[in-house]
Amino acid sequence: MTEKLYYQDPYLFSFDAVVLDITTFHGAPAVVLDRSAFFPEGGGQSGDVGTIASVQVYDTQVENETIYHLIKNTDELQKGSTVHCSLDAKKRFARMQAHSGEHVVSGIAHRLYGVNNVGFHMDDTLMTVDFDKPLSKEDLSAIEREANACVYRDLEIRAWYPDNETLASLDFRSKTEGLRNPRIVTIEGVDHCACCAVHLRTTGQIGLIKILTSASHRGGVRITLICGICAYEDYVLKHEHTLRIAEQLAAKHNETDIAVAKLLGKEKQTRWLMQQRTEQMLIYIKRATDYKNGNLLFDFSGFNPDELKTAVLILKSCCSGICAAISGDDETGYYFAMTSDNIAVKDHTKTVTAALDGNGGGRFDVIQGRLRANRDKIRDFFDNYTVN
Ligand SMILES: [Zn+2]
Repeated sequence: MTEKLYYQDPYLFSFDAVVLDITTFHGAPAVVLDRSAFFPEGGGQSGDVGTIASVQVYDTQVENETIYHLIKNTDELQKGSTVHCSLDAKKRFARMQAHSGEHVVSGIAHRLYGVNNVGFHMDDTLMTVDFDKPLSKEDLSAIEREANACVYRDLEIRAWYPDNETLASLDFRSKTEGLRNPRIVTIEGVDHCACCAVHLRTTGQIGLIKILTSASHRGGVRITLICGICAYEDYVLKHEHTLRIAEQLAAKHNETDIAVAKLLGKEKQTRWLMQQRTEQMLIYIKRATDYKNGNLLFDFSGFNPDELKTAVLILKSCCSGICAAISGDDETGYYFAMTSDNIAVKDHTKTVTAALDGNGGGRFDVIQGRLRANRDKIRDFFDNYTVN
């Protein structure tokens, strides 16, 4: 049984301890100390990382009250020796900010809207929290505002073990059937929750609480949540992006959405103009093309599939057989479209795609697809293919 220093002082980030055992944890090399400030994975929070002497601890786990510090190489440690141990303090503090922030949000959501936290996942930047009932954008916004107000009030966060009588009358979250002697984490007036993890002493240390996204999930809602130093770093990153976008659009940083809407409007107008010009050009080509008995193939490099379709529909009256158009090159292959004024091109799809190593299909009178044969072969095929 390891003495749990993290419960005595969650801010203890370095300590001395005696190596009791060098062993394995489910096959992985591990060290057991007489006392430890390394929090083992639990309550949705990852196991601490850091160093024991000069050896890197990449994870911490617990089994039967014994804490296992997982390491890659056991050679440098000796049973019975006293070692100096250090946690990755920045990581641990950020995790406490996140986890305490999650309690605030879940407690407020429960109090305001009667929803229960039914799923919680935490990585080193973001958390996901699943609530069992839907919450609107307005509900989530109200929860977020109240959560941040709770940070400004700098409320005490306290872990305690209530006696059976107190427990029976206590309305706390994470009530699990058969939970004996639970550790309750209380934020006065905000939340009581059964939780084994390490928390901050006051809500003021959580810093910013921000709900980033929400989506429907199993009849309820899944939110992504960010707190503390991670929320600050996220703000810095997004603000840098916003400033760069604003600069490129020559817009104020809080009016980039208006500038983007304008830009998209212009782009739509440009696309419409391009389409008009393409159609005009195709009509000129049609006037300049002599009628042909047989098939006609047009090579329109740079055309997209929609433009190829427009082309064959405009030019089909220039021939008696199949009117086809291609766009592409021998290396990457060709898009194609084909139609006819006189025959059902659908009946010829298989023959064309089989001969030209392609695939295609289409409803109504235009067949579209891809061809992998080279340009000369495609040209030869349409020159010599007889449709009737
Ligand atoms: Zn918790």
